[in-house]
Amino acid sequence: MKATLDHIGIAVKDLAAALAFYRDALGLEIEAPEEVAAQHVRAHFVPVGASKLELLEATSPESAIAKYVDKRGPGLHHITLRVDDVGAAIAQLKARGARMIDESPREGAEGSLIAFVHPAATHGVLVELKQSRVDSRASRVDSRASKVTRYTIGDLELISVSDGFFRLDGGAMFGIVPKALWEKKAPADDRNRITLAMRPLVIRGMRTMIVDAGLGDKENDKFCDIYGVDRVRNLDHTLAEAGLAPEDIDIVLASHLHFDHAGGFTVRGPDGRLRPRFPRAQYVVRRGEWEDATHTHARNRASYLLDNYVPLADAGVLQLVDDDQTIMPGVKVRRTGGHTMHHQMITIESGGKTAAFVADLMPTTAHLAEPWLMGFDLYPMDTLAAKTGFVREAVEKGTLVFFEHDPAIAAGYITETHGTRSIQPLS
Ligand SMILES: [Zn+2]
Ligand SMILES: [Zn+2]
Repeated sequence: MKATLDHIGIAVKDLAAALAFYRDALGLEIEAPEEVAAQHVRAHFVPVGASKLELLEATSPESAIAKYVDKRGPGLHHITLRVDDVGAAIAQLKARGARMIDESPREGAEGSLIAFVHPAATHGVLVELKQSRVDSRASRVDSRASKVTRYTIGDLELISVSDGFFRLDGGAMFGIVPKALWEKKAPADDRNRITLAMRPLVIRGMRTMIVDAGLGDKENDKFCDIYGVDRVRNLDHTLAEAGLAPEDIDIVLASHLHFDHAGGFTVRGPDGRLRPRFPRAQYVVRRGEWEDATHTHARNRASYLLDNYVPLADAGVLQLVDDDQTIMPGVKVRRTGGHTMHHQMITIESGGKTAAFVADLMPTTAHLAEPWLMGFDLYPMDTLAAKTGFVREAVEKGTLVFFEHDPAIAAGYITETHGTRSIQPLS
């Protein structure tokens, strides 16, 4: 049997501290994390030459990694050897009397098949055998880990960037739709949460604009636990991949001011004071949204965090707009209402082509069907009307639609065949 070193697994107790060493001190690059739900583990792969390190983080106290760390503390957990055929490898080892933990292959990270050999057979080291497998799950992981995606609409360049992922209650994300239906499209974790991306959009034309800016990094551990925040690869990284620095942004445009859209508008400086994240930018916000976000009530208060936007007014970089209008040549805002009274989408038009950044009007591709509306929406019947109108228009015009929260698909075209609508992903 030919076996090569695939990776070395390290059980981690404090992921932030581990990243401070492996990413920041050693300067290694960390790939987008992979969730292995069955094992309650989140795996962060760190390429080192032909092999990788795998930082293993428990996502539940039942996880084998949680138990390992409780018993022995963090440290070397396993070594993984890549083999061509894991079934054949198990048979060969068993024939020679080696004790196996897994007598048959099971599913591991990155769409692989794995089996563990007992440390009694390996002289004290837990050894995992792995057979790489290409399947739909693997290709989805690839799209998550991929670099930023660029599109051209006439004279405008559109760059889909990312501020990582977070989680919201699946029931709240799909309103009246039963779990039996939505969980086929968006699997829930053990706290009933589904994974959502945060994908701001950079638009480069006469000027450089960013629409929304994700969550940012001001929230504490408790918040990040409740919302399953994963910003290992965040807006700083993806802007850099796009060749942009925060100083390059001229205009920051808000779809609305919820924390998963406006959190990245401000940062806390070393002196503890909040300041605009994009130092040269004017921040454009709809006046009605600003009024609502600064006069909250019991139903919307959890989503509006003043630290994300009040410092913009203090710094004199806030520009309020009253109605649907052009923000930059080719880029307009259009009020949809529904999600919030003054929620707006962004329409992009150049060279006879159209694109739209719909924000929370249709947060994921799963929200295409009419009754699939968020329980979060303050005025769901308004969302329904705006969505129905927009989808019809997008089909007719061949509009490239950006899905801000879809975990796998940044953008696509809505098509209709024999009365059935579907999305043709572009990424
Ligand atoms: Zn929202
Ligand atoms: Zn949102």
